[in-house]
Amino acid sequence: MRNSSLGDFELIFVSDGNYYLDGGAFFGVVPKTMWQKKVAADENNRVTVGLNSVVVRTGRETVLIETGIGDKLSEKLIKIYGQPAQLLKSLDCAGIAADDIDIVINTHLHFDHCGWNTIREGDRMVPTFPRARYYVQEGEWQHARLQHERDAISYIGENYDPLVASGQMELLRGDQGIVPGISVRVFSGHTNNMQAVLIQSGGKSACYISDLIPTTAHLDLTWVMAFDLDPVQTIESRKQYYGHAIPEKWLTMFTHDPNTPCAYIQRNEKGRYSASTKAR
Ligand SMILES: [Zn+2]
Repeated sequence: MRNSSLGDFELIFVSDGNYYLDGGAFFGVVPKTMWQKKVAADENNRVTVGLNSVVVRTGRETVLIETGIGDKLSEKLIKIYGQPAQLLKSLDCAGIAADDIDIVINTHLHFDHCGWNTIREGDRMVPTFPRARYYVQEGEWQHARLQHERDAISYIGENYDPLVASGQMELLRGDQGIVPGISVRVFSGHTNNMQAVLIQSGGKSACYISDLIPTTAHLDLTWVMAFDLDPVQTIESRKQYYGHAIPEKWLTMFTHDPNTPCAYIQRNEKGRYSASTKAR
């Protein structure tokens, strides 16, 4: 857990723990001989993947961005991915109770991004954050509902359908302000309607970029995950993101980096991208 400030806002970095993904899937068409220089794989070719969430205290609202894997995976999925289920403990260590959360923003609805949206109570699902309004893009929810052969495994309806049904989850259409200083921007590629969360206060900006750039090992435009539905669009969206984030010195927050939850992205004369904890 770490805290930092952004203008008048406070950023609190929390985590649902680490899980495991196949290194090949995590780095798409990039050969292992290249990615293993940056990230170590275990004997089953799995790499360690973080589940970073961020709490933003604006002075008026307490906003939680992303809710990890949660504690509702099936036995089969636990065998594949593990189920660290650390987020509520991590929030508690930061002095934040479930009741304190006013707003939850999911960048998209893959199970490793919205798992703690709900918890099981007897045989029904209830919101983990009872007072919160939840936000996701409407197109993302519609795609999740499709249960398409390509990515049905990534979507677990219990994480969001009860919230949509009760009206507690608001379905957004495109870029939109959530509260003063916090807005969402759609960056497609990973999914068609994945939204990043832009936080701006006192002339400073930070952006929770989610699976557009999952870790600091994915900064190169072409290092795109195999999970992405439209890898060509991911490259376009990354260019668009860098066009603002680099010159305007945005603090980028990485969902899946187990070591670096946030950094400033830079580009050198040779066009190589790197991450630094200090803005230059
Ligand atoms: Zn995803």
